[in-house]
Amino acid sequence: MRYVSTRGEAPALSFEEAMMTGLAPDGGLYLPESVPVMPETEIAALAGLSFEETAFRVMRPFVGDWPEEEFRALVAEAWGSFGHIARAPLRQIGPSHWLLELFHGPTLAFKDVAMQLIGRLMRASLARRGGRVAILGATSGDTGSAAIEAFRGVPGVDVFILFPEGRVSEVQRRQMTTPAEPNVHALALEGTFDDCQRLLKDAFADRAFAEGVGLAGVNSINWARVLAQVVYYVTAAVALGAPGRAVSFVVPTGNFGDVYAGHIARRMGLPVERLVVATNQNDILHRTLQSGESRKAGVRPSISPSMDIEVSSNFERALFEAYGGDAGAVRADMAALRAEGGFRVGQGAWGRLRDWFASGRASEEETAEAIRRAWRETGELVCPHTAVALHVARDVVGATPLVTLATAHPAKFPDAVEAATGLRPALPPRLADLYDRPERVTRVRDDLGALQALIRDRLRAARAA
Ligand SMILES: *Cc1c(COP(=O)(O)O)cnc(C)c1O
Repeated sequence: MRYVSTRGEAPALSFEEAMMTGLAPDGGLYLPESVPVMPETEIAALAGLSFEETAFRVMRPFVGDWPEEEFRALVAEAWGSFGHIARAPLRQIGPSHWLLELFHGPTLAFKDVAMQLIGRLMRASLARRGGRVAILGATSGDTGSAAIEAFRGVPGVDVFILFPEGRVSEVQRRQMTTPAEPNVHALALEGTFDDCQRLLKDAFADRAFAEGVGLAGVNSINWARVLAQVVYYVTAAVALGAPGRAVSFVVPTGNFGDVYAGHIARRMGLPVERLVVATNQNDILHRTLQSGESRKAGVRPSISPSMDIEVSSNFERALFEAYGGDAGAVRADMAALRAEGGFRVGQGAWGRLRDWFASGRASEEETAEAIRRAWRETGELVCPHTAVALHVARDVVGATPLVTLATAHPAKFPDAVEAATGLRPALPPRLADLYDRPERVTRVRDDLGALQALIRDRLRAARAA
């Protein structure tokens, strides 16, 4: 299995190489050259299997020549720290409507599902090849804490996380700033998540720097993350009757990684009837799918901060597919987005995207109302991102089983939940002292040179120690 860049100007790589690289050197994202299809009989055979065994069978065809027994062992232990034996349990909230709870990992958001596996895969790869890496991540809140949790204290790895100062919840910030391990570097940037992500992409694009410090990426630009997220679409659909019965999903969306994983699951043969993109008031994806015109309007902070994003990296993967693999068309659109703040999706490609993805948006008031309604009607406290999806799901419920992805634990966003319901969700016991731990954070400017100097300094100090 080879991986190619959406911009068509980087060499094809193996799974392991693509995972260790993250972003392609031409600025594009890696995609498998072709998506292996699971025959119906193989999907049917997943019924009743553990999350781990399903994960192994779903991901195995994508990982190429990764030693099979090692891969099986890493998959088997990946989710051991989760607080629920099912890893991603379904909870019924209506006659034909389920929540898929993806927040039972160590940092209480779905990013743990992929990160706990990637942390192990990267460690195994480093042990095999030797060397050190500097992981650089940009986060709207949850990827950063999940990456720090996966790599804290790991020898040979330093983890640098850029987050937008003042735009993450207190729990999110504390999960990044309280780990005491010296290989953890929480970097607060004055700006938005999009600024963080642009700085990160520029750092990767500087090849001399990237190779010099051994830069590796764990954002959802990293294909391995998308792949790991395919697994829970499969476990959920199989539990609800696939392959014999189709299932629809509503996905709270920011950087488009999660919903894109659902698209890959469908390309593998999973019977997915509708895949619905749910956005908050930062609704560029909804507008793009509705109008064919992708245009930035400025990010407004919301009560679902992990989705306060305008430059949605993984949309580029869907675009590349929609253009039938025409990397030149993708390059032109991405250049226009950067230079002019927007682009118009080619006619045929727009049609394809609309066939693949439905969409909806929730305003701030609608999000709060969805939190209240979930509490009133089902006794569930949901996080504001899940609430965005529940609002959009109201137009989708019907005869087909519907799964709404619950992407974070409500206690990660207690202020929004309390404002809507009057109830303050408590942190699980293992995180109960989070508010008492000392914080450690470095403020950085939106300046590539300054960021690179900081990373070099920290690595020099670490490697001298
Ligand atoms: C990251 C995140 C999202 C958005 O997921 P994408 O893959 O970026 O679309 C939604 N909800 C929560 C809680 C998140 O952390």
